[in-house]
Amino acid sequence: MNDLGGRVALVTGGARGIGEAYVRALHAAGGRVVIADILEDAGRALAAELGERALFVSLDVTQETQWDAAVDASVQAFGAVDVLVNNAGIANAAPIEHLSTEKWDAVIAVNLTGTFFGCRAVVPVMKQQGKGSIINISSVEGMRGSAGLHGYTAAKFGVRGLAASLAVELGPFGIRVNSVHPGFINTSMTTRIDPAHLDIPLGRPGEPEDLAGTIVFLASDASSFTSGAEFVVDGGMIAGIPHR
Ligand code: NAP
Repeated sequence: MNDLGGRVALVTGGARGIGEAYVRALHAAGGRVVIADILEDAGRALAAELGERALFVSLDVTQETQWDAAVDASVQAFGAVDVLVNNAGIANAAPIEHLSTEKWDAVIAVNLTGTFFGCRAVVPVMKQQGKGSIINISSVEGMRGSAGLHGYTAAKFGVRGLAASLAVELGPFGIRVNSVHPGFINTSMTTRIDPAHLDIPLGRPGEPEDLAGTIVFLASDASSFTSGAEFVVDGGMIAGIPHR
C-alpha cells in the first residue's frame, strides 16, 4: 500500500537535511521526485544520483513566480504533481524585545508565506487530476510555545492551521492536506542545540530518516482517508511531563 507507483512528489528544501531524507524515501518507494531548493549544487547532485525518476528545480519558496515555473517543470517532466511536501524552512531566535522586523519577516516569508504559495500553486493541477496530497511540515513548535522562537513558532502554528483549512476546502476535490510535526532532529538547523537538555522519552534525538515513513504514508494510498490530521514525530517529547 505504501508503493507510490510513479506518483510525482515535489519536495521543497529537498536538497539536504530532512527534505533530502523525504526525497530519498519517496524515490525508494517508487515515486518520481522533484527536488526544489535554493541549494543548486546539492540539489542537482542528488537528482543526478537518483537518476531518471528525479528532477532538480531551482526554487526560492518566497518567490511567487518561481512557484509557477517549478509546477510547470514538474508537469512537463512527469505529467503531474501528485504530492507536495512543503518542507523548506529556516529558524531564527531572539527574545521578543530584540526580535528585529527583518528576522520576523524572513522566517514568516519562508516558513509560512512560502507554504501558502506552494499550496496555491499546486491546487489547480491537483484539482484537474482529481487527487493530490499536500503535506505541510510544521514542528512541535506548531503545537506549543517556545521561548525565543517567536517567528518560527508563529509560522509553524500557521502552516498547521493552513493544512486544516485547506483540508476542509479541498476534500471535495480529492485533495488531502495534513501537517507533520517533527521534534528534535539532527540536521544543520539544530547543531547549536544540545539534545541532552531535552526530555525525549525514546532516549535519543531524531534523525532525518525517522520522518520518512510518515511522509511515504501520507503520499501513498495507505493514507487514503486521512486529511486534516496532525502527525507528531518527536520520540514522545511533547506527550507529557516526565517525573523524576
Ligand atoms: P535544513 O537542514 O536547514 O534544510 C532546510 C532546507 O530548506 C535547506 O536545503 C535550505 O537551503 C532550504 N531552504 C531554505 N530557505 C529556502 C527557500 N527560501 N526556498 C527553498 N528552499 C529553502 O533544515 P531541516 O532541519 O532539514 O528542516 C526541514 C524542515 O523541517 C523545516 O521546515 C524545519 O522547520 C522543519 N523542522 C525541523 C526540525 C529539526 O529538528 N531539524 C524540527 C521540526 C521541524 P539553505 O541551506 O540554502 O538555507
